[in-house]
Amino acid sequence: MKQVDYDVIIVGGGPGGMTAGLYASRAQLKALLLEKMIMGGQMMTTTLVENWPGYPGGINGPELMMKFQEHCVEFGLETGYGSVEKIIDNGDHKVLIVDGKEMTTRTVIVATGVVARKLGVADEEALTGRGVSYCATCDGAFFRNVPIAVIGGGDTAVEEALFLTRFASKVYLVHRRDELRATKILRERVAANEKIEPVWDSTVEKLESDNSGLTGAVLNNLKTGEKRTIEIQGMFVAVGVTPTTGFLGDLVELDASGYIKAGEDTNTSCPGIFAVGDCRTTILRQVSTAVGDGAVAAIMSERFVDELAHQG
Ligand code: NAP
Repeated sequence: MKQVDYDVIIVGGGPGGMTAGLYASRAQLKALLLEKMIMGGQMMTTTLVENWPGYPGGINGPELMMKFQEHCVEFGLETGYGSVEKIIDNGDHKVLIVDGKEMTTRTVIVATGVVARKLGVADEEALTGRGVSYCATCDGAFFRNVPIAVIGGGDTAVEEALFLTRFASKVYLVHRRDELRATKILRERVAANEKIEPVWDSTVEKLESDNSGLTGAVLNNLKTGEKRTIEIQGMFVAVGVTPTTGFLGDLVELDASGYIKAGEDTNTSCPGIFAVGDCRTTILRQVSTAVGDGAVAAIMSERFVDELAHQG
């Protein structure tokens, strides 16, 4: 068998990737966790995580991720930064092209998560950073005592709207239907918050701006066709996510939305490549489910490496 650099390379440093790294290094696999930008993934832009067991009252996303990282270091996990451009399957080993350089490994755990989807309205890109944002935790404090809008009706939109009431004078929650997708507890909090005005059945048709940035949005009521202009200085887009799987090409099977087809055992269509967390097909995308996947993938990886060793 060809000599390789690692038993397992984990791509992505969110909760799923870090858990895979922790289990793999504890199982004494030669493991590397590669992260493109910031260790911690989406949790680094999450204010309060209320549903991670063991923390009644909740814990801040970045604080939780610091603890995950410390725990990985305790087991000696090697970590590095780099963008994986391509993975080539050579059967008993995989070649990763990372920032133009080759790395070899027996197995790969893909834990690349998702990125925020754009709204697709004119000037959205030009106004990003000048009123348009995709992260309330990052940018919320810039909008003190001014009206803003959050677009979307899922858990992210509602959590962001609630968080933003700390700063903004008013938060319009613009949703394309008349019922929020978010969980009941969050829907109830929206209903009880006087600073939030839901705008139902509506989408953003146009953004208005001047030299200082965003000044308003023209909303279109999908049921009545009525147009309404709201004066806002901030617009937080939370209309869902797209999986970060493009770099895989056709190496593994993806579903129609780009999620890696993988079940509870984290096996993908390519032997030796496992998928964990938000980037795989699953019914629930949470820290807790990503963590479970990470543990399973590390054990699957260990078994795969053992089987190769016995064969060869
Ligand atoms: P999501 O659940 O897919 O919700 C996206 C929302 O945006 C939906 O309400 C959708 O409307 C709306 N939308 C989609 N495209 C749109 C468009 N072009 N124009 C206007 N509105 C549009 O996404 P998410 O809220 O980012 O959540 C992603 C995953 O993370 C979910 O599984 C969620 O449960 C999970 N999450 C969990 C927590 C938590 O447990 N605390 C927090 C955040 C996220 P429709 O409803 O009409 O489809």
